[in-house]
Amino acid sequence: MMSAMQAFDEYFVPVYSPAPFVLERGVGSRVWDTDGRDYVDFAAGIAVSALGHAHPAMVSALTKQAEKLWHLSNLFMNEPALALAKTLCERTFAEQVFFANSGAEANEAALKLARKVGRNIHQDKTQIISFSQSFHGRTLFTVSVGGQEKYSSAFAPLPADIVHATYNDLESVKALISKRTCAVMVEPIQGEGGVVPADEAFLVGLRALCDDHQALLIFDEVQTGVGRTGSLYAYMDTPVVPDVLTSAKGLGGGFPIGAMLTTRAIGGQLGVGEHGTTYGGNPLGCAVAGAVLDVIDESVLMGVRERSAYICKKIAELNARHQVFAGVRGRGLLLGLVLSERYQGLAKTIVSLAGEEGLLVLVAGSDVVRVVPSLLITKDDIDEGMARLDRALSRLVG
Ligand SMILES: *Cc1c(COP(=O)(O)O)cnc(C)c1O
Repeated sequence: MMSAMQAFDEYFVPVYSPAPFVLERGVGSRVWDTDGRDYVDFAAGIAVSALGHAHPAMVSALTKQAEKLWHLSNLFMNEPALALAKTLCERTFAEQVFFANSGAEANEAALKLARKVGRNIHQDKTQIISFSQSFHGRTLFTVSVGGQEKYSSAFAPLPADIVHATYNDLESVKALISKRTCAVMVEPIQGEGGVVPADEAFLVGLRALCDDHQALLIFDEVQTGVGRTGSLYAYMDTPVVPDVLTSAKGLGGGFPIGAMLTTRAIGGQLGVGEHGTTYGGNPLGCAVAGAVLDVIDESVLMGVRERSAYICKKIAELNARHQVFAGVRGRGLLLGLVLSERYQGLAKTIVSLAGEEGLLVLVAGSDVVRVVPSLLITKDDIDEGMARLDRALSRLVG
């Protein structure tokens, strides 16, 4: 009989190289593979499973909705979407929402909106500024705006009039921005690019530059949003309010959904039929996202900050023994363990060793191990995950 890995190699377009086990079920921050082995989950499906696996509020929202109505299209209204849009507007700066099915699609909507708004001012106002090492998704537009050429160069010709400045370097933005700029897109913390937080002064400076040049400031909060940093959205940790914000990943807690949030003045510049999606705002996704947001209250956000401090303390203890990490970057439960000089390039090796020891954890580039557990992970699960990481690091250090 074919092994799972052989079947994967046989039947899948080879764009992934998954871990060698097949996961079957999960509860909270534990998952089990088809051989019954358990794993502590510090990966949360890439910062998606904000409430962990099989959270009762999500299971209930999904199953209740599944018995009522699955899909309608945007030709008809549905209650979960109406309620979710209202909640997102009440809990953020936003006044209007566009629902999509993924982060890339939320960003695609934001970028198209920026082009439209720019061209409403002047037909040449089309330039988009983003940042090297940024990640915004895998559609052609979003890989082009993203700052990692390895994700875009094979697919040229790319959409035009996109330039990349240096993250946390305001002067590099000043050198590019002009009255032709329609938007600056930025992650408040670069996730895939290595868990690199933006300096507050940098974000404040971007806000001022965008205001001076009538350009939209777009925060890609696909990874930082929905409580991950210890605030509902990371912009709330700063003095800056964006014009457009994109959310996905944790929003559905594992059910695919994305959202673009903006003001009425900006959103209102798109007209009927100018953008759309078949599944966006479907009742199942919106019911689950509504349940996720219901759970994420002030006490959960406080819990994120407490868990963050506890994980950082445990990492410091581990590192006192192994000296593998040069430091920890990030905020809340979006943490990057930065490998020291001696272990550069070995993030993937550590993730593999951790998998063998029963811990799911991620990389963010080749030199950073990324820890993005459920916002509700228990102290016991953190302790057990750290014990397993300890064993993995012992094997690495040898
Ligand atoms: C994951 C991610 C995306 C892409 O989201 P998908 O749901 O994979 O399309 C976009 N931006 C950021 C910051 C992300 O972390």
